[in-house]
Amino acid sequence: MQRRIFIAGAAGVTAVGATLATPGAGAKPQHQWKMVTTWPKNFPGLGTGANKLAAIIGEMSGGRIEVKVFGAGELVPAFEVFDAVSRGTAEMGHGSAYYWKGKSEAAQFFSTVPFGLTAQEMNGWMYYGGGLELWRELYAEFGLVPAPAGNTGVQMGGWFNKEINAVADLKGLKMRIPGLGGEVLKRAGGTPVNLPGGELFTSLQSGAIDATEWVGPYNDLAFGLYKAAKYYYYPGWHEPGTVLEAMINKQAFDGLPKDLQAIVLNACKVVNQDMLAEYTARNPAALQTLLNEHAVELRKYPGDVLDTLRALADEVVAEIAEQDAFSRKTFASYQKFLKQAKVWSAISELTYLQARDQA
Ligand code: CA
Repeated sequence: MQRRIFIAGAAGVTAVGATLATPGAGAKPQHQWKMVTTWPKNFPGLGTGANKLAAIIGEMSGGRIEVKVFGAGELVPAFEVFDAVSRGTAEMGHGSAYYWKGKSEAAQFFSTVPFGLTAQEMNGWMYYGGGLELWRELYAEFGLVPAPAGNTGVQMGGWFNKEINAVADLKGLKMRIPGLGGEVLKRAGGTPVNLPGGELFTSLQSGAIDATEWVGPYNDLAFGLYKAAKYYYYPGWHEPGTVLEAMINKQAFDGLPKDLQAIVLNACKVVNQDMLAEYTARNPAALQTLLNEHAVELRKYPGDVLDTLRALADEVVAEIAEQDAFSRKTFASYQKFLKQAKVWSAISELTYLQARDQA
């Protein structure tokens, strides 16, 4: 399957989803679905993750469901994915929940929170800490069924053409940074903008924006961002474990027999796990390429800059709880989980990594 995805991507085949979700011998698909995405077609990790989700649904259902994947702008623009699936223009979508904060501020908790949960912790909150139940409750209002369907792990801080030595260096900076991270930047004196991934390189190169974050080495290398900026900052304080989402039109989902419903939701779970494994494998290699072949200058955010951003992030996140009853409930659930996770992660992952890397 992976080989076929690679070949389809390399050959620039347009209907990748349709190509992959091949019906079983002679069978005609009982459900022909469209999946709209916020990613450029076949974009490594994110777009190919969506392709993989479609392929797995096709294979697990023995071809009873065929999902055709559309890149951003093919059927609807990137930021209209939510509405398109909500109204049934497409049966499925793939994106990230922080893009839909205009629908509900609480949506951002289901994507990522600055200085919040890591990928591993986020999966804990989603599947065993009440997160997914809250997410389902929120999206039901829009006629959608959500599911985690990918995770990038800790992202990078972003690409800059000047050094960030103090918080003052963020003042007046026009940076592409979505979600709550953008709100934090605003409070630090910057100007956040949100642009779909496909527009980042030209915006940065033309000077329309001063800086941008995207994902991490694997994806940032693919967009060639190193050609438009000199400094590559870490860590990605604003996106410590971003969840990619699948959303399914509720009417289409309810119209499936129970076994196909289980196949769709479990295919999401497979891709959720698979994408994180892919990033874990490809980011380290891509980082070496950026450093050794493209002479990228790696920079760590100074500790006092991170301290200020963390204090601002606490304010921003707490304010969401004041928006409405649902946001308050979600904030309370997330914070309770985070508080406990911090204690455990400090004595497990953190202490272990420190011990390992000092050896
Ligand atoms: Ca990002």
